[in-house]
Amino acid sequence: MNILVINCGSSSLKFQLIDSDTENWIAKGLCERIGIDGSVISYTPAGGEKETKVTPMPDHTEAIRLVLEALTNPATGVVKNLDEIGAVGHRIVHGGEKFAASTLITDEVIEAIRECNDLAPLHNPANLIGIDACRKLMPNTPMVAVFDTAFHQTMPPKAFMYGLPYSYYEKYKIRRYGFHGTSHSYVSHRAAEVLGEKYEDLKIIVCHLGNGASVSAIKDGKCIDTSMGLTPLEGLIMGTRSGELDPAILEFISNKEHLNLSEVMNILNKKSGVYGLSGDLSSDFRDLEAAYNKGDEKAKLALETFCYRVAKFIGSYVAAMNGVDVICFTAGVGENAPLVRTWICNYLGYLGVKLDEEANKKRGEDIVITTPDSRTKVMVIPTNEELAIARETLALVK
Ligand code: ADP
Repeated sequence: MNILVINCGSSSLKFQLIDSDTENWIAKGLCERIGIDGSVISYTPAGGEKETKVTPMPDHTEAIRLVLEALTNPATGVVKNLDEIGAVGHRIVHGGEKFAASTLITDEVIEAIRECNDLAPLHNPANLIGIDACRKLMPNTPMVAVFDTAFHQTMPPKAFMYGLPYSYYEKYKIRRYGFHGTSHSYVSHRAAEVLGEKYEDLKIIVCHLGNGASVSAIKDGKCIDTSMGLTPLEGLIMGTRSGELDPAILEFISNKEHLNLSEVMNILNKKSGVYGLSGDLSSDFRDLEAAYNKGDEKAKLALETFCYRVAKFIGSYVAAMNGVDVICFTAGVGENAPLVRTWICNYLGYLGVKLDEEANKKRGEDIVITTPDSRTKVMVIPTNEELAIARETLALVK
C-alpha cells in the first residue's frame, strides 16, 4: 500500500509517499511559505530530479492540492491517480493525556485533538488544518493521527508531575508530556532488533539530538522518563532553545531588559541554546565545530555545555533505571557529529563505555560504536520518523 505521510506546520508542509511493502519512499517534498508571498513547493520522485516551483499557496488546502497534483503528474508523478494512495498518516505534536497510541481519524478524534490545542498552540492547530485539507481532497481515504507525545504516556506520575500545586494538574493538565516520541520509539526498537535482543529485556537510553533535542529512558519495553516537558522547551540545551533553567531567570531578564513575558519566552525559544551561548554565532553544529577548530572560545563553550547537559541526563536515567544496556544517538547532530558523541562518551567511563574510534567516524548506518569489550553498548541509529508514521498508519488501516 502507498501511504502518504504529512507533517503540517503553520506555514510549511513536509510530505513523503511510502510504499509499505518495501518501506522505501517513492516521492517526497516540502511546501514552504504557505499563506505568505513567494510560496514554494519542492518535489523529488525516488530516482528522479528534485524540482522546485514558486506558485501561490494561499492556504493548506491549496498546498495539499499541489502535492497531490505532483504525485499524480503524468510526467514526473509516481502514482496514476489518488486511488493508489491507500492511507494518510498525519504527524500530530500534542495528544495530551487522551492519546497513548496512534488512532484512526474520526470527527471525535479531531475534536479531542482540538482540545489539546492549548498545550501546543503553535503546532496542533496547524496539524489540524493539514487533516482538514486532506479530508476535503481525499474524503474516502482512511487517515491516522500519530502523536509525538504518545510513546511517553507510559511514564509514571513520579516522572511526569512537576513540583507545583496539584490543582494545576487537575485544572489544566500541567505535567510533563515529552516529544519526539515517534523517533524515540523507532530508534529504541531498531536498536533491540539490530542487537538481536528482546526489546522488553533491555534498558535503553535514546539521545535524539537535532535542532530540538531530547533524551528518553526505556525499561521493560516502556518509556519511563524523558527530558522534554509540558512543551519542547524543557531539558537539554538545543539549537536555539535554552532547555531547563532556574524559572526565576524569567522575571530577572524581564526586569533587566524591560521585556514582557512573551518576549522573554521568545528569547528562551529562539535566541538561546548553543546559538545564544556561542554569542549568536550559529545554531548549526557544523558551524560551531568549524569555529571551535579555529579556536573560537564561545563555540567551544557552547559545544561543551551541550555535551555536559546530555551526559548529566544520561547519568540521571542510569539512576532511574538502575543501569543501562545500550545508549543510542540519533537525529541531525546525534547521527552526524562524531565529536559530540566522543565528548559525551568521555563522561561515561563509569558505565565501562569504550568508544571504537573507527566505527564512530561512520555515517548513515545502524552501528555499534563501542568496542566488543565495552560494558555498555553505544549505537548510532539514524531515525526515520516518516517510516514510523507509515508503519503505524498501515497497522491501523489494514
Ligand atoms: P530538526 O528535525 O529538529 O530540525 P535535525 O534532526 O534535522 O533537526 O538536525 C538538524 C541539525 O543537525 C543541524 O542544525 C545541525 O546542527 C546538525 N547537523 C547536520 N549535519 C551535521 C554534521 N555533518 N555535523 C554536525 N552537525 C550536523
